[in-house]
Amino acid sequence: MTVEADLANGLPSFTIVGLTDRAIQEARERVRAAVRNAGVDFPSRRLTVNLAPAEVPKEGTSFDLAIAVAVMRAADPAIRLDGVAFIGELALDASLRPVTGVLPMARCLRAHGVQTLVVPEANAEEAALVAGLTVLGAPSLQRCVEHLRGDAPLPAAPPTSRANGHARAGPDLAAVRGQARAKRALEIAAAGGHNLLLTGPPGAGKTMLARTLPSLLPELAMEQALEVAAIYSLRGALRERSAASTDPPFRSPHHSISRAGLVGGGSGLAQPGEISLAHRGVLFLDEFCEFPRAHLEALRQPLEERAVTVVRSRAAVTYPADFMLVAASNPCACGYLGDPRGCSCDARRLAAYRSRLSGPIKDRIDLVVSVPRQRYDDIFDGADEEPSEAVRRRIEAARERQAARGRRLNAALGGVRLIASCRLSPPASRLLARSGERLHLSARAFFRVLRVARTIADLAGCDDVGEDALAEALSHRAELEL
Ligand SMILES: [Zn+2]
Repeated sequence: MTVEADLANGLPSFTIVGLTDRAIQEARERVRAAVRNAGVDFPSRRLTVNLAPAEVPKEGTSFDLAIAVAVMRAADPAIRLDGVAFIGELALDASLRPVTGVLPMARCLRAHGVQTLVVPEANAEEAALVAGLTVLGAPSLQRCVEHLRGDAPLPAAPPTSRANGHARAGPDLAAVRGQARAKRALEIAAAGGHNLLLTGPPGAGKTMLARTLPSLLPELAMEQALEVAAIYSLRGALRERSAASTDPPFRSPHHSISRAGLVGGGSGLAQPGEISLAHRGVLFLDEFCEFPRAHLEALRQPLEERAVTVVRSRAAVTYPADFMLVAASNPCACGYLGDPRGCSCDARRLAAYRSRLSGPIKDRIDLVVSVPRQRYDDIFDGADEEPSEAVRRRIEAARERQAARGRRLNAALGGVRLIASCRLSPPASRLLARSGERLHLSARAFFRVLRVARTIADLAGCDDVGEDALAEALSHRAELEL
């Protein structure tokens, strides 16, 4: 965006043009007061400010600083701009307030050749993540003016370094006793980025198992961490997650969330939703069947395209949404189907629940695992459980094997790539053909089985997908097809 200011002779006035919203129109009052309180005379002539390009809708308060600087520059040639960019909201007393979305704006400015950026002090850390950009954190408009007149330069913020090597959030896998099959499913899902459904009676530990995922997933690469931080910056959520964090995000929205909160939307320009905050990490939907059907339907397209496009009257916005879906659900309405306690649902209720569970995104789930209530033997068994770190090392090794074949995780492989990477042995091919017929696998489900089998073979360090890997993948699918 370019902010232009023009002073002309005529009655004093102040107009802002360029497809602006109300917050930008109100900037006139903030700018007028802040310029005066910064000790600079506000020009009493006909003042026009233009925000270009005119066809792009603009909103919010982050243009305040640039508008004030443009106005002062129009009246005072001693202010030198020299290609510096400005972001920030002004308070009436001329101090600078932090705004949302500074990181993605800073990245965009750098990509367009900007070398120096002035931001409110509280935004300096996130902006300084962008390599090659000199970031000046300013407390107030006065300090900006002193800097631009060459009287007292603002100090450059030190480059923000990535925050790694700290303990991960969430419980360790060793804290869960027993549940070997569920733990194995978590390992496979984390290794290949597969979508997972955990079913079981209340109190079986489904939520606890899902919450161990942050301790299992590999650290994000710097570029990925920047993508994630950019989304949090737009939502103003960098208080929840440090801009320099390289932990994969874990989001667990409640089923009462609005559709816009889940997939993105809201008034004005669309905001990213939970599925974008889970980008490069995990979206955990506990009590999956309690989510409104329309919400689950809305997940279909992002799960397929790994991005979401939200259309609003002012503009359509596309946000990344490359997340791993982990869902947890009771096996039936009462919760005790298959449990020794016994299910009290009648046939109709059971059928209705099953259709709710399997209908909307059955074809988007790769692995299903039932999580039974823990047996007392397991709880009091003194055997050592494997810690998350050991499992994570296997997952990292499997991810390296995937990276050696191409850029995408197994869960995101298209049909042709997938078949080329599987190299099925003849017995494995026969098993797949037989099972596909028996389980009536759709083409989509068939590929899901293959992707999971590819990941199981990667965990085993195998180039080819053998019968064992395929059989294990099919066993996780079979529960969904019942
Ligand atoms: Zn039941």
